Amino acid sequence: MKLYARLFLSHLLVIVIAMGTLLLFSELLASAFIREHVEQMVAVIGPDGANLRADLEHGMRGTLTSALLAAIPFAVLIAAVTALLSARRVVRSVALLRDGSHAIAAGEYRRRLPEDGQDELGDLARHFNRMAGTLERVEQGRVELITNVAHELRTPVAALRGFAEALKDGVMPRERAADAILREMRTMERLANDLSLVSRVEAGAVELHPRNFPATELVMAGIERFKDAYEERDVRLEWTVPSGVPDVTADFERALQVLTNLLSNALRHTPSGGRVTLSVQGDRDDVAFTVRDTGSGIPSEHLERIFERFYRVDPARTRGEGSGVGLTIARGLVERMGGTIRVDSSSSGSVFTFTLPSAHG
Ligand code: ADP
Repeated sequence: MKLYARLFLSHLLVIVIAMGTLLLFSELLASAFIREHVEQMVAVIGPDGANLRADLEHGMRGTLTSALLAAIPFAVLIAAVTALLSARRVVRSVALLRDGSHAIAAGEYRRRLPEDGQDELGDLARHFNRMAGTLERVEQGRVELITNVAHELRTPVAALRGFAEALKDGVMPRERAADAILREMRTMERLANDLSLVSRVEAGAVELHPRNFPATELVMAGIERFKDAYEERDVRLEWTVPSGVPDVTADFERALQVLTNLLSNALRHTPSGGRVTLSVQGDRDDVAFTVRDTGSGIPSEHLERIFERFYRVDPARTRGEGSGVGLTIARGLVERMGGTIRVDSSSSGSVFTFTLPSAHG
C-alpha cells in the first residue's frame, strides 16, 4: 500500500478510536451528571416531580447522544481533511527525497531539495543538501585533477614527439636530441612522483616517522642541499638560528622536503644578485621556519590560491619549471605533522613560513 494511503488510514483509525471513546465515556459519565441534575429539579418541583424523573433522565441522555451523533460526522470530516493534508506534506517530502537521491545516484550532483520547515523533515532536506554539496565538490575536484594532469602531460609529450621527429629526420644532433629527450622524461617522472605523493598526502596515507631534532639540523640540511645551486645563480643564501630555539618533533625527511620546496621556489623566483634568508623562531608550542626572498613576489589576489593543486601565478612563464603541486604537498605534509604554512608577499619578495610542533610543547 502506498505511503500516502497508509498515513491517511492510520490517521483515520486514530480519529475513529477517539470518537468511539468520546461516545463511550459520554454514555458512562453523563448518566451520573444527569441523575444529579434531575434530583435537584425534583427537589425544587416537589412530590409531583417524582413522576418526571424517569422521563427527564431518558430525555436528557437521548438529547446528548443525538447531539454527539450529529456532531461526529462533521468532526470526522474536518479531522480527515486535516489528516489528508498532513499526510500529503510527509509524503511530498519523502517523494522529493526519493527523486533527489535518484538524481544524485545518476550523477546529477547539483540537485538540491527545498529546505522549508524547522522540523525533522526540514533537517533531513538540509542534511541531504549538505551531502550533495560535498559530493559536488569531490566530483569537481576529480574532473579538475584529470583535466590538469592531462594538460601537464601534454607539454612534455609534445616536446618528446618533436625531439624524436627531429632525431628521425636528422635535423638535430643525436647528442642534443638525447639530452632534450632525457630532460622531458625527467619532467614526466617528477610529475608522476609528485602526483602520486599529492594523492597520498591528500588521502592522509603518508607514513610519518617523527623524532625530536634541533631546528639547526633541518636548516643545515636544507642549506647543504642548495648551496651550490644558489651560488651558480648568484643568489645569496643566508640563515639565522637564534640560541634557545626548542627542538622540533617531526618526520625529518618530510620536513626537509617542505623546506627544500620553499628554497627551490625562492631560488627560481629570485633574480641574480638577490637574497634568500632562512630564519627560525620558536616557543613552547612550535618552531617557525621562514624563507624570505627578494624576488618577484606574488600579487595579493593569488596568495589565497597558490597552495591549490596546479595553481600557478604565471603559467606561461613558469611552464616546465615545476610540477605545480609543490606547495600543495608542502601544506599537506606540514598539516599532517601538526603544523601550519602561510605566505605573505609584497613587490619586494615573498615570505613563506611553516611551523612544526616543538619537542617540549
Ligand atoms: P611550482 O611547481 O609551479 O613551483 P608550487 O606549488 O611550488 O608549484 O608553487 C605554485 C606557484 O606559486 C608557482 O607556480 C609560483 O607562481 C608561485 N610561487 C611559489 N613560490 C614563490 C616565490 N618564492 N616567489 C614567487 N612566486 C612563488
